[in-house]
Amino acid sequence: MQTEELKSFPKVELHCHLDGSLSEPALRRIIREGDQDVELLLNSMRVKSDVVNLAEYLSCFTNAMPFLQSEENLKIAAYELIKQAAEEGVIYTEVRFAPLYHGREGMTQKEAVKAVLQGLEAAEKDFSVKSRLLLCMMRGKTEAQNEETLTCAVEMRQYGVAGIDLAGNEAAYSPRLYRSLFHKAQEKQIPFTIHAGECGSIENVGISIEMGAKRIGHGVTIADDEEMKTICKNKGITLEMCPVSNLQTGAVKRIEEYPWAKMRSEGILVTVNTDNRTVSDTTLVKEWQTLDNSFGPIDQQILKQAAACAIEAAFLPWTEKEELKKILHERTSQLF
Ligand SMILES: [Zn+2]
Repeated sequence: MQTEELKSFPKVELHCHLDGSLSEPALRRIIREGDQDVELLLNSMRVKSDVVNLAEYLSCFTNAMPFLQSEENLKIAAYELIKQAAEEGVIYTEVRFAPLYHGREGMTQKEAVKAVLQGLEAAEKDFSVKSRLLLCMMRGKTEAQNEETLTCAVEMRQYGVAGIDLAGNEAAYSPRLYRSLFHKAQEKQIPFTIHAGECGSIENVGISIEMGAKRIGHGVTIADDEEMKTICKNKGITLEMCPVSNLQTGAVKRIEEYPWAKMRSEGILVTVNTDNRTVSDTTLVKEWQTLDNSFGPIDQQILKQAAACAIEAAFLPWTEKEELKKILHERTSQLF
């Protein structure tokens, strides 16, 4: 499928990290007239080669963090991300970030969340891209820090926070360690997704589902596990797959081995996402092109099914999902 055709097709994205997607226009606005070289800075936030490991991949985020320590800058980053998503044909997106990383200069988690929400809201008005925010709790951080993130999600629910996530190095920290936090999330009816089965174990996926996750971030490792796939099918679990990022972190060695097409054909609910536009140097269009090159042809029917699947899995009330389905239908019937 041609780039322009892919671009204009209405798409939905559920897995995109704000700090891993600090765009060039955002960085230019943030450093203003400073003497720092924007290209050099952006390069420091991108993975260096095609094959790294997850820990190396995660280190790229460190270089974006100094630029995201004020409310103004978070607002800019969120706004510019939605602007970029609009250019890629996204109609709805769930952006995620970990508010506990933005307090170096004294910003509280809640202030950080409010700032990002303001940026998302302003961009929604300007670019007609509906968006919601997911708050990431982090592996390796203290229970108190993660609990504060969960509290933010509860308090900011009616202002655009749609759910929570658990991110970070899954090989070192089992989801089990965070059981009590997810139990509280369930009590408060906060839906959640968990990064699992990216480069870690199938077991992490199983534990996450058993703890109540409705979606799994990545989940690539379950591709050959019939039992886990059956569980996913029976429970209607949606996988947030991120092809380019998964190649970079070594979740799969070669794109030909990427299990998106296989799991899709087996009836597993799979969605396509960028993960990190800047760190992975990708766009949602590039993700689809990558799949098209190896598993194509990707046609409009496949794209429409993917968008419908993502809408179904979105952390939105059903009325808002219905509205999105209507938009998808209207926009695609103009194309067919
Ligand atoms: Zn992720």
